[in-house]
Amino acid sequence: MIMQNDLQRQFSLYSGEYEKKAIEVLRSGWYILGKEVEQFEKEWADYIGCKYCVGLASGLDSLWISVHLLNIGPGDEVIVCANAYIACIMGITINDAVPVFVEPDRYGNIDAQKIESVITPKTKAILAVHLYGQACDMTVIMEIAHQYNLQVIEDCAQSHGGLWRGKKTGAFGKVGCFSFYPSKNLGAFGDAGCIVTNDEELAKKFRIFRNYGSEKRYHNQVIGRNSRLDELQAGLLRIKLTHLDKLNAERCKIAGRYMDGITNPIIRLPQVRPGAYPVWHQFVIRCKERDELIGYLDRYGIKTLIHYPILPYLSEAYGYLGKKEGDHPIAERYAKEILSLPLYNGMKEKEITMVIDAVNGFDPTG
Ligand SMILES: *Cc1c(COP(=O)(O)O)cnc(C)c1O
Repeated sequence: MIMQNDLQRQFSLYSGEYEKKAIEVLRSGWYILGKEVEQFEKEWADYIGCKYCVGLASGLDSLWISVHLLNIGPGDEVIVCANAYIACIMGITINDAVPVFVEPDRYGNIDAQKIESVITPKTKAILAVHLYGQACDMTVIMEIAHQYNLQVIEDCAQSHGGLWRGKKTGAFGKVGCFSFYPSKNLGAFGDAGCIVTNDEELAKKFRIFRNYGSEKRYHNQVIGRNSRLDELQAGLLRIKLTHLDKLNAERCKIAGRYMDGITNPIIRLPQVRPGAYPVWHQFVIRCKERDELIGYLDRYGIKTLIHYPILPYLSEAYGYLGKKEGDHPIAERYAKEILSLPLYNGMKEKEITMVIDAVNGFDPTG
């Protein structure tokens, strides 16, 4: 059987290093806000090319706390792609702000050409989600943001190390938000997240907010939360970070094999935006007979996933927005046609070939 993702394979690539670090942290007697978190924050800020990084408990926290600390609240509008992950929308609505949806372009990310038409006096920010590991058109997004005086928040939960015109995703907007959920390109061994920014004041606000609103113990300046990255996760992330470029290069190689090998005319391959260097968090094909394809691949023992089958605005949770089927036809068509093929670190050559051969052999009429 070929799984869609296999985290054990990735762990086993460097298991000795992870085990050594885990024992080191366990034996240290220091588990929250210590030297591992401090070092990881320095190393991740350096890697992205930003001045500051603040470790947090999850990717969702990085999003909603960003919206909150940028003073975006009830009634304010945030522009986001209609096919984004549900956590992106929750990051907005937890603050009682309103998501305003824009259709994806052919690369699956927000169609930057359609942003201007939805800007209103209530628009406060653009949430740029670099879906599947590929950068949005950050040149156009930053131009629009500048022109209309909007904040830009980047959701880089799927694009650790991904580039736009040579610069890392996360380094363009006011804040770059990251999740280190285990299946992400830089995944921890539990929940974890962070933000990056070049704004010293804002970084300080995150540091205070994540720790009950206090910088100095028992001196609480604001009503904060508990959203800390822990020492064990930070230590393990530091190990994985030393291998991240290699891990991403391996994903690119697998994606390259699929790009060259899949020739079935009824399959649409993902397209790479000129100027983007994608890190292939997912390899998302499109096929009109998608549901038959899933069953067919499953019979070959090949597991696939859909990212994502239900658009956030059509989910039960967002019924209150009063949106309906037909509101964003491009996003809706993608949701019916997309399929994420197996792609993970440690995938074997013969497994890649099996996926390619199976996909090429799919004929819904035969
Ligand atoms: C995973 C993910 C998140 C949420 O991260 P968590 O750490 O699971 O809270 C947010 N946005 C995107 C695009 C994601 O893929």
